[in-house]
Amino acid sequence: MSLTGVLSYQGGFERHLERLAGLGVRTLPVRSVEALERVDALIIPGGESTTIGMLMERFGIMQALLARIATGLPVFGTCAGAILLAADIEGSEQPRLGALDITVRRNAYGRQIESFEADVSDAAWNGAAFHGVFIRAPQIVRVGAGVRTILRFESLPVLVREKNMLAATFHPELTGDDRIHRYFLEEVAGI
Ligand code: GLN
Repeated sequence: MSLTGVLSYQGGFERHLERLAGLGVRTLPVRSVEALERVDALIIPGGESTTIGMLMERFGIMQALLARIATGLPVFGTCAGAILLAADIEGSEQPRLGALDITVRRNAYGRQIESFEADVSDAAWNGAAFHGVFIRAPQIVRVGAGVRTILRFESLPVLVREKNMLAATFHPELTGDDRIHRYFLEEVAGI
C-alpha cells in the first residue's frame, strides 16, 4: 500500500495527516531524508515558509526533495507549501524548491485582512464551489505556460497544477471538504 508523507517541521501538518488518515491513506510525517525516500507522495503544509525552508535546508531535504520531484514524486503545497514550491517569490531570496513555474507574492491580502474565508470556484471543476480558508495567504501573480489554473478567487489563481505538482494558496485541510485532497491523491498521485 502506498505511503503519503506530510512534511512535518512546522505549521499545519497535523490536519493534513488527519485528513489523509480519514481518507484511508497510510501516512508518514516526514522530517528526514530517510523518511522522504519512503513516501510515494508528499504534502508540504502551510506555516511560515521561511522557517520551513530553513529547516528543509538544515536537514538536507531541499536537495533530496527537488531530486525526487524531478523524477515524478507527486507533491501538494498549501499556502507556505505553495510558496516553497514556487520558482519566484517577489522581493525574497528565501530558500525554496523553485520547481513550480509561478511567481508568488507573500502576505498579499494585506495586514488588515490577514485571514478570511471565501468561496472559490471554477468552471473547470464542474462549476463547483469550494470554501477557501485563507490565512496570511500569498497571491499567485504569474503562472508559467505549463501551469494549469484549476480554481480562482477574484480572478487570481488559487489552485494550480504543473505536472506532478499541485499548489493551493488556501487551506483545504481546514474545512470538512475532502475533494482537493482526493484530487491530489487520485488525479495527481494516482493513489
Ligand atoms: N504568510 C506565510 C508565509 O509567507 C504563509 C501563511 C500560511 O501558510 N498560512 O510563509
